[in-house]
Amino acid sequence: MVTHSALLLQLQTEVLEAVARGEPLSLIADLLCRRTEAIAPDAVCSILTVDAQGLLHSLAGPSLPADYTNAIDGVPVGPNAGSCGTAAWRKAPVMVTDIEHDALWSDFRGLALPLGLRACWSSPIVDRQGRVVATFAFYFRTCRGPDAMERKIVDTCVHLCALALNHEEVRQRSHRLAYYDVLTGLPNRGHFDQMLAERVASGARFGLLLIDIDHLKVINDTVGHGMGDVLISTIARRIASAGPDIVACRLGGDEFAVLVDNCDTGEVLGAAASRILTAARGLIEEGGQAIDPHITIGGAVFGPDGADGPALRQNADFALYHAKEVHRGDFVHFTPGLRTGMLERASMVRSVDRALAENRILAHYQPVVRLDTAEIVGLEALARMRMPDGRIASAGEFHAALADPRIAWQLTGQMLTQVAGDIRHWLDMGIPIQHVGINVTTGDFQRGDLEQRIVSAFERFNVPLKHILLEVNEAVFMGGSDQAVPRAVGALRQRGMLVALDDFGTGFASLTHLLSFPVDVIKIDKSFVDNVGAARASDVIVGSIIDIAQKLNMRIVAEGIETAEQVKALRDLGCILGQGYLFSRPGSVEEVTQLLQLFAQYRSTRPAMAPAAPPKLNRRRRSA
Ligand code: GH3
Ligand code: MG
Repeated sequence: MVTHSALLLQLQTEVLEAVARGEPLSLIADLLCRRTEAIAPDAVCSILTVDAQGLLHSLAGPSLPADYTNAIDGVPVGPNAGSCGTAAWRKAPVMVTDIEHDALWSDFRGLALPLGLRACWSSPIVDRQGRVVATFAFYFRTCRGPDAMERKIVDTCVHLCALALNHEEVRQRSHRLAYYDVLTGLPNRGHFDQMLAERVASGARFGLLLIDIDHLKVINDTVGHGMGDVLISTIARRIASAGPDIVACRLGGDEFAVLVDNCDTGEVLGAAASRILTAARGLIEEGGQAIDPHITIGGAVFGPDGADGPALRQNADFALYHAKEVHRGDFVHFTPGLRTGMLERASMVRSVDRALAENRILAHYQPVVRLDTAEIVGLEALARMRMPDGRIASAGEFHAALADPRIAWQLTGQMLTQVAGDIRHWLDMGIPIQHVGINVTTGDFQRGDLEQRIVSAFERFNVPLKHILLEVNEAVFMGGSDQAVPRAVGALRQRGMLVALDDFGTGFASLTHLLSFPVDVIKIDKSFVDNVGAARASDVIVGSIIDIAQKLNMRIVAEGIETAEQVKALRDLGCILGQGYLFSRPGSVEEVTQLLQLFAQYRSTRPAMAPAAPPKLNRRRRSA
C-alpha cells in the first residue's frame, strides 16, 4: 500500500516539475489542489492570492463552484474576513472549526454553508520580503480541525505554493524587463515588434505613428540629462493618455511608436496624431526648471501605406524624417513621393560621399563685379562634383545631399582647402584677389569648430583671413531657436573674416535682425533681382534694402543678374556690386584665372567689400 508520505513526495515532485517546466501559475495551483484533495479526501482545497491593494483573488479551487470563487474575488483582507482574509490580515494561520457560529465568518457564511462547508483552516503564504501574497485553505464538511497528516500536507503545500509564487514573480519581473521600458513603463521595442507582427498577421485595421521629441540633445546639454529623462517620461505618459484606441511604445532614445487601432484612413490617423500633439503640449516643470516640449510625428496606415510590418514602419519613418525637416512640431502622413525623394537623397549622399573620398569635389568660381566698370572685385566659390564619367555636376544636382550634416561638413572642409590653395596661387601670380565667398551650412556651425577649420586651412597656404567671405544663407543664419549661428558669425567677424548674408529676402531674416547681429555684406536674392526695373514692388523692396544696408554700413551684392536692364535699374537704386550670367557663369579655376588676369580690380587698394563709402567710378579696365 502506498503511504501518505510517498504520495506527498510524489505530489511535491510533480508540482516542482511543473514549476521547472514554466507552466502557468494557475495550472500549477490547480494541480496542487487536485493532488492534495486526492491525498486528503475529506478536504476541499482553495488557493487565493492577495494583491498589492490587499484584495483577495481566487487562484485555484477546483472543487469549489465558480459562484463561490467569484463571490470572494475582490474581498479585502481584514480582521473579520473569513478564514483566508483574516489569515492574510493577521499573517498567521486561522482555524475556524465552525463556520456557522464563528464571528470571523459572519459576512460569508451564507456562501459556504449551502455548499456543505462547515470548517475552514487557512494559512498565509509570504514572499521573500515577508509580504502575504496568498493563502492556502482546507475546507471540511464537518466541524473539525486538521489531523496530524493534514497538517503535514498543508505544510508541504504552503511551501510549494510559496515556491511557485516566487518563481512567478521572478518570471513576471524578467518579462517586464524583456517587454517594457524601465524609464517610461511603456512596451519596449521588442514588444512593439511583436504587437505589430500580430496586427499584420491578423489583418487588423490599424495605423502606425512614429514620434520623436524635438531638440532633446539641446535640453540634455543645457538643462541636464535628468531633465531630459523627465521630458521623455512625461511625454510618454502624455502620449499614452491620448485615447483608448492607441498603444504607445518607446522604441529607444526619444523615439516612440504608437499603434492606432481601428484605423484605415489618413483622416483617422491624422485625428489620432492631432490628439497626441495636443496631449503632449504644456510646460514641464521640475526642480525650478521649465521646458516647453515639442514632438514631431510621421505616420502610415497599414494596407494603403505598407502591406507588411517592415514596409509600414519604413514608410512611417520616411514621413517622420520629412516632418523633422519641414514640419517640426507637426504631423506628416506618408506619401509615395516622400519615399522616392528619400531614396534619391540616400543615393545622392552615397555618391557625394564617394566623390569626397576620391577628391572629385571641385571649387568653381563665379565673379562678383562692380556694376559700373565690370571689374572683378571678388569671387564666389561654388562646389562642383566631377562624376565618374568625367562630367561636371552642378551643385543643384547634389544639393539635397548637403542636408546631411556630415556630408556638408566634409564638403566645406575640402572647399576651404581648395579655395585657400587657389587664393595662394592667384596672390603668387600677382593678381590682387580680394575676397572669395565660401558657403557654409548648418552642419558647419553645429560642430563648433568652423573658426578653427578656416584658420588652419588658410594658415596652411599662408593666406590672410581677410580674403575669405563666409556666405551664410538666411535659413542657416536664422535657423534654430537660440541665435547660436548669429553669435558664431559675430565671433568670426571678430577674427577679421567678412561675412555675407546670402539669399536675402527668401527666409526669415529681416533688416531688424541685422541691428542685433550685423554682417558685412547682404546678397540680395535672384528672385528680387529678376523683376528689378520691371516691377515697381521689386524696385521699392530692393531700393529700401540698399538704403538701409548702406545706413548700417553693410555692402550689397545683387545675385543672378542676367540683363543689362537689370544692371541699369540696380545702379539707379544705388547698388554697386553684383554677380550673374550677364557677367560670367561660374567657371573652373583655370577659366577664372584668365578672367582675373583680364578684369581684376588692379587699381584699388581698398577691399571692395569692406565697410566704407561707395567706391568712386573707375572706368579703366586693364587689358591683357
Ligand atoms: P531632433 O530635434 O532632430 O529630434 O534632435 P534631438 O536633439 O532630439 O536628437 P535625436 O532625436 O536625433 O536623438 C535623441 C537624443 O536624445 C540622443 C541622445 O542624446 C538623447 N537621449 C537618448 N536617450 C536618452 C535618455 O534615455 N535620456 C536622456 N536624457 N536623453 C536621451
Ligand atoms: Mg529627437
